[in-house]
Amino acid sequence: LIPRLSDLISNPPSFNQSLRVRGWVNKTRKHKKTSFINISDGSLSLWVQIVVDNDLVDPDLLKNLKIGCSIEVEGYLEDPNSENSFNSKIENTSIVCSKNGVGLIGSVDNDYPLANFRLLNDYIRSLPTLKHRTGRVASLFRLRSALDYRLHEFFQKENFIKTNPPLITTSNCEGGSEIFQIEKTLDAKPKLSHFFKDDSYLTVSTQLHLEALSMGLGNVWTFSPSFRAEESDTRRHLSEFWMLEAEMAFITDVRQLTDFCEKMLKYLARTIVENKTDQFMILDDLFGDHSRRTDEEKESALAAINKVHSLEKFPVVTYTQAIKILENSSEDFKFGKPQWGDDLKSEHEKYLCEKVYDSPVFVINYPKKLKPFYMSVNSDNNTVACFDLLVPGVGEIIGGSIREENYDLLKAEITRRKMKAKDLEWYLDLRRFGSVPHGGFGLGFDRLIRYFGAAGNIRDVIPFPRVQGKCPA
Ligand code: ATP
Ligand code: MG
Ligand code: MG
Ligand code: MG
Repeated sequence: LIPRLSDLISNPPSFNQSLRVRGWVNKTRKHKKTSFINISDGSLSLWVQIVVDNDLVDPDLLKNLKIGCSIEVEGYLEDPNSENSFNSKIENTSIVCSKNGVGLIGSVDNDYPLANFRLLNDYIRSLPTLKHRTGRVASLFRLRSALDYRLHEFFQKENFIKTNPPLITTSNCEGGSEIFQIEKTLDAKPKLSHFFKDDSYLTVSTQLHLEALSMGLGNVWTFSPSFRAEESDTRRHLSEFWMLEAEMAFITDVRQLTDFCEKMLKYLARTIVENKTDQFMILDDLFGDHSRRTDEEKESALAAINKVHSLEKFPVVTYTQAIKILENSSEDFKFGKPQWGDDLKSEHEKYLCEKVYDSPVFVINYPKKLKPFYMSVNSDNNTVACFDLLVPGVGEIIGGSIREENYDLLKAEITRRKMKAKDLEWYLDLRRFGSVPHGGFGLGFDRLIRYFGAAGNIRDVIPFPRVQGKCPA
């Protein structure tokens, strides 16, 4: 196998040893005697500089090398301490090209949309099939890959069972209007439009099935897409997003959930901070000179990761306290100040974690009427045992709760809300067969990447974002 650039860093070849690399050209500089070609291959944000003696390669080939071309290069790694070293950026060395050592793999047509060196994020966002070829988006996608792996590692260490609840469901557990209904439209016979006999939907959350699985497997988790027809155009909502959901049996208190979530985020932050030299090299990737991220983005990402890493405990406030804080603030909110019973808008969430706490903050015990039917009611009879985790720059990234375990109370709530009890019979039955106190949460994975990567828009952290009115490629 031809090494990728990340292999050259983690497993450096010796100087003057012959090697081959492949990648895409991201910059060329042609001087009279020597040309410099920077190539990257997606494995990390560093690019390698190829030094070419103009007399040793076909001049036509050299002339046609443009940004975006894919090439293969044969050469050797230059000793950075040698007298005529070019001393370039990648770990202070370059690859010196052998005679006829550059081979063109794929050329680039003149209308290549990324041919310019400096491009605006808005423009890059409009190119979903190409955007990951830019340094910034590629580094966010590598962060995504690394955190996906670390989350698996964390749940494995915590002895959770990974499981796979269905994505096609017959119940709308969140009770919202954002649900996508499934229809078999290609069949002319109207009778068959209900493919599963009953109304069926794309899941908005796998929670109800996850609860069923936890009644038997104990602590379970899953990581899968969720679908919501979000009609407002925001920087934190997608119609297809990735959610990590976990459910724990035999827990009784919302603080057990917040402690667990805190531990999970601190684990992730620690792997980023401490693993500078392993294959992920997230820090270099996100904060190195090569990532083409703005200084502001780099600083916020570093601040977010360091904050989570260094904070002893995340602050916890009740919803009622949060409302008081907002009422007493002198901030001029676009939507005004919320009163007890109102849901917190994104600007309120951001005010709390950015201005008041300057850190992630758990808000617990929201009013019952704001939350879905399955949450366990607190002794005040007005609030439920739930939490949202709010983080600077994004707002809510996790929502969780203790679930009502008692059959009669749950049944009464379903009736009170005039929900279709028949669809939820199987769910209610869980409360008749060895019911135990339990609870869980859902983490928006794309929002987590937004937070740790300090990406201003959720559309930049996911390939091919799906939002209302747009489903390109
Ligand atoms: P919001 O208030 O931002 O609309 P929510 O309260 O509707 O979120 P939950 O039902 O609590 O969301 O889902 C759990 C988590 O899933 C959220 O905390 C969030 O991180 C994530 N999430 C929810 N909706 C979306 C979406 N449309 N796009 C991306 N992530 C989402
Ligand atoms: Mg929502
Ligand atoms: Mg919410
Ligand atoms: Mg929520």
